[in-house]
Amino acid sequence: SEHIRIGIAGYGNLGRGVEAAIDKNPDMTLVGVFTRRDPAQVTTLGADTVVRTMTELPSFTDEIDVLILCGGSKDDLPVQGPELAALFTTVDSFDTHARVPEYFAAMDAPATAAGTTAMISVGWDPGLFSINRLYSEALLPDGDTYTFWGRGLSQGHSDAVRRVPGVAGAAQYTLPSDTAIDAVRSGSRPVLATNQKHTRECFVVLEDGADAAAVEQAIVTMPHYFDEYDTTVHFISAEELARDHSAMPHGGFVIRSGNTSTEASQTIEYRLALDSNPEFTASVLVTYARAAHRLNQQGRTGAVTVLDVAPALLSPKTPAALRAELL
Ligand code: NDP
Repeated sequence: SEHIRIGIAGYGNLGRGVEAAIDKNPDMTLVGVFTRRDPAQVTTLGADTVVRTMTELPSFTDEIDVLILCGGSKDDLPVQGPELAALFTTVDSFDTHARVPEYFAAMDAPATAAGTTAMISVGWDPGLFSINRLYSEALLPDGDTYTFWGRGLSQGHSDAVRRVPGVAGAAQYTLPSDTAIDAVRSGSRPVLATNQKHTRECFVVLEDGADAAAVEQAIVTMPHYFDEYDTTVHFISAEELARDHSAMPHGGFVIRSGNTSTEASQTIEYRLALDSNPEFTASVLVTYARAAHRLNQQGRTGAVTVLDVAPALLSPKTPAALRAELL
């Protein structure tokens, strides 16, 4: 069958991840990267990847089946999303949870008018975690759902540690609390505050002559960020920070436990352990680009989310092959 022709709009971490993920999916081809920057200033992973300016996109409506939007959720997607959904079937990773309903409406109108399909908020959270919350809530109506994040690098908390006087560099990881996870897995349906579900670990490079004890005290007592958490601080060298803490690991768990009778407790668990958050998120975007293309061909236009997509639409295999192999 014909290849699905993909365009990448915005070339940061996620854009690079999409370029890499297309290589792993033989039914897709990359038409090009589209950026707001001077294309000459953008170096791609692939030596023969074509880079163009975003202003050229309107002349590519016949060349691109699905445009994957890789801009940031805060400032880029709210502006780029509706403009590009009027021209292309799109997939994006809009992840400002509280604003999803508003963004859905902003994408639905132009996509419906243009006959395109706008697949929004694809990734792992929102995304795969949302699907797992849906399945487990529907399956166990008498139950409680818990989401744990980590071990993951938190950009916001790393920045907060870097602002402490005496700190030359830092990385902060959020970790799920083993105690809390064990309690949830036991089926006891505990009530857990956010600070009981997660712990925090900081790797800090000190400035010359800085007082380690004072820096540690300033970090663990920092209001909002650390004071209510169990926080560990490790002091390391600048070389160790660069060598061991430049990757962007993340992941987490969605666990629901519920009761089908007084005697029977049931637990459903979904786990992601990711070496690279952007590379994995990009793999999810590319998979959903296949579904978006198929939905559009079936006439399902307007905005859709991962909750609207049937699983078989994600696979490059035929429904017959899937029945034979997976059922
Ligand atoms: P980046 O900051 O790396 O990239 C965002 C945009 O910034 C790019 O599209 C690019 O646009 C521009 N940009 C990138 N590098 C440079 C540079 N060197 N100089 C100038 N501009 C640059 O963000 P990420 O790719 O890491 O993440 C994008 C979004 O993905 C996040 O905002 C987050 O919302 C979402 N996300 C969602 C997840 C989920 O589970 N749903 C998980 C992870 C991320 P241009 O090429 O046009 O300049």
